[in-house]
Amino acid sequence: MKREEIISADREHIASTYARADVVLDHGEGATLYDKSGKAYIDCGTGIGVNCFGICDPVWKEAVTSQIDKIQHISNLYYSEPQARLASLLCEKTGAKRVFFANSGAEANECAIKTARKYSYDKYGEGRYEIITLKDSFHGRTMATITATGQDEFHKYFMPFLDGIKYADPNMLSIRRARTARTCAIMIEVIQGESGVNVLAEDFLKELDRYCKANDILLICDEVQCGNGRTGYLYAYEAFGMHPDIVTTAKALAGGLPLGACMMFDKCAGTLTPGDHGTTFGGNPVACAGAISIMSRIDRDMLLEIQGKGAYFMENIRRIKNVTSVSGMGLMIGIQTTKPVGKVVAACAEKGLIVLSAHTKVRLLPPFNIRKDEIDEALKILNEVISA
Ligand SMILES: *Cc1c(COP(=O)(O)O)cnc(C)c1O
Repeated sequence: MKREEIISADREHIASTYARADVVLDHGEGATLYDKSGKAYIDCGTGIGVNCFGICDPVWKEAVTSQIDKIQHISNLYYSEPQARLASLLCEKTGAKRVFFANSGAEANECAIKTARKYSYDKYGEGRYEIITLKDSFHGRTMATITATGQDEFHKYFMPFLDGIKYADPNMLSIRRARTARTCAIMIEVIQGESGVNVLAEDFLKELDRYCKANDILLICDEVQCGNGRTGYLYAYEAFGMHPDIVTTAKALAGGLPLGACMMFDKCAGTLTPGDHGTTFGGNPVACAGAISIMSRIDRDMLLEIQGKGAYFMENIRRIKNVTSVSGMGLMIGIQTTKPVGKVVAACAEKGLIVLSAHTKVRLLPPFNIRKDEIDEALKILNEVISA
């Protein structure tokens, strides 16, 4: 299909839920994307933090295709090696005790919400079901997870929303006010991705961790975006010495295939029992094979490399004229400029650089293996666009 045919078929037949950029991406290699006309772009979006080892990484591709050669899907009625291996790897690396595999971030969070409520039901009986989430959070697009998302713009049209979700500001005073005898869990993103790559304050995170432990409130860290090495830590909560009871992740987990995981630590590892939860596709063996390839390569050296590249990016972005602040950790970067973010994103694409937005900020989520020369080229384009 020609570029114009693709765009008109899309506009005619696909639900218009996305304000798409005027780019038809087609293929790529490493940190380089090509559109339908062959124009190259440096990829600092990675499909919203998904293609963490770039496009068609050869090791990942081999892992995925060799699984496809064996079997493409195994129902969760049977045991399978890719799930068993991946769950073992995740537990070994994090200290989690059990993993539930889903297909997406929202589904991983659904599992977390169900697990927290059942944990509390088993222990305290009916009625202790409230979950506190934070203002400006993002937890997904299903009914439960848009309710959990602490942004008013998501709470239109689709009412009634889920009962028992409360919102707090990211400080202990507000958390204490929102908490009642019915509170069973608190769900946070250590780094709020969608609302502008906001890193929550270390003091708050440490105190919240203690508060949850002291009151037997489950702490859920939504690491869908900031997890799997993105910040230079395997999971961002590790940077703050936290001990969550449930960690959810997705995006980069399988390097470009749909996979979510809800990791359950000591307290609630035994909570879900047969019949409590399930999925047809979750933990698909091809996705798990991709994830094993990714997760086994995110080692100490890789994390240090991500920290180094992130520091280099941020240091140079701070020098750009019209940049008012830079936030983030590792290769998860938010840039506040004096310019309208939509204009910056479009102008970067025009010059061959894919970047994302997050509220009023420009957001960078480049692949972990982006090369130095590619970073310099990305910085050059950012400088041209933002300082102009
Ligand atoms: C993207 C995201 C989600 C939703 O993930 P989907 O795979 O789109 O369902 C949930 N939480 C956070 C923090 C995210 O960034």
